[in-house]
Amino acid sequence: MYPPFRSQKINFTYRDRSCQNMLSYSITPVQEIHDSVLDKAGVRLLIKREDLNHSSVSGNKLWKLKYNLEEATKLGQKCLLTFGGAYSNHIYAVAAAAHELGLDSIGVIRGEETLPLNKVLSFAISKGMKLHYVSREIYRSKTESAFIDTLHKTFGDFYLIPEGGTNNLAVKGVTEFAKTLGKDFDYLCCAVGTGGTMAGLINGVSLEKKLLGFPVLKNGEFLVEEIKNLLSSEHKNWILNTDYHVGGYAKVTLQLTTFIENFNAKHQIQLDPVYTGKALFGVFDLITNGYFPTGSTILFIHSGGVR
Ligand SMILES: *Cc1c(COP(=O)(O)O)cnc(C)c1O
Repeated sequence: MYPPFRSQKINFTYRDRSCQNMLSYSITPVQEIHDSVLDKAGVRLLIKREDLNHSSVSGNKLWKLKYNLEEATKLGQKCLLTFGGAYSNHIYAVAAAAHELGLDSIGVIRGEETLPLNKVLSFAISKGMKLHYVSREIYRSKTESAFIDTLHKTFGDFYLIPEGGTNNLAVKGVTEFAKTLGKDFDYLCCAVGTGGTMAGLINGVSLEKKLLGFPVLKNGEFLVEEIKNLLSSEHKNWILNTDYHVGGYAKVTLQLTTFIENFNAKHQIQLDPVYTGKALFGVFDLITNGYFPTGSTILFIHSGGVR
C-alpha cells in the first residue's frame, strides 16, 4: 500500500556533486479515488499527484528537464533555447527552470505574436525568457541544421532542447521517476503528447505491469514508432489507446469539460483539458466499459499542466 500524503521538500541531487544547479522538488502523494463507478467495476484508481512536484516546472516537465539541465550545466552553457506553440507547457517550464537556475532562455514560438500575451507567454517573459516568433512554415524546419545555424548566428551559444522537451535525457529523467512508483499497481496510465513521458515510464517499471497511454492528438498511431525509438530495449507491455483525442490537439467538447468540472468538484483534483483531462476521461470510459479486470489497481500519472 502507498503511504498517506507526505509533503516534503527535497532537492534533486545530481550525481555530479560539483553541479550547483538544482531545481527544488517536492515528493508527491498517491491519492486513492473513491467513486461508485470504480466500486461497480471492482477496480481501484490511484492518482500520482506529480502535478504537485514544483510550483511552476510542474509534472512530467520537471523530470524531462532534469538531465537536460544537468547536461547544459556540465557543458558550461548559460542559455537554454527551445521551441513551442503559444500555449506550450514546455515553454512555461523551461522559462521557469532557467530562471530558477540563473540561466538565460529563448523560446522560439510558432506563429505571429498576438497581443495581449496569453498566460504562458507573459509568464515566460516575466521569467526572463526572450521570445522569438517564427512563421509556421519556418517553424516546421526546427530540427534542420540550417535553421539552427541561423539561430546560433542570432543568439550565439545555447543548449538546445527540442519541442516538447523530448530527447534521450528527458526519457532518462522520466525513467528515474518511474522507478519511484513502486509495485502496488497493475496498470499505469498517462497522457501522451510527444511520447517522451510514456517511453520513460515503460523503461522504468517492471515488465509485468501494463502501460496504457492516451495520445491527445488526432491520428496518434505514429507515436508507437516514436516511443519505440526512445526505448532502450524492446518492451511488449504497453499500448496506446487513440480513441480519446476528442477531435485533436487542444480541442475540447462539452462532455470533456463537464467531466473535468465534475471530477474537480468531487475529488478536488484539477485536470487540464489538453492532457490529463482527456487521458483520465479515457480511463473512466474504459472502466465503465469493463476494460480492466475486476480486482485491478490502476495508477494514473497526473502529469501537471494546470495553471
Ligand atoms: C507535456 C505534457 C504531456 C505530454 O508529455 P510527452 O512527454 O510530450 O508525451 C502530458 N501531460 C502534461 C500535463 C503535459 O504538460
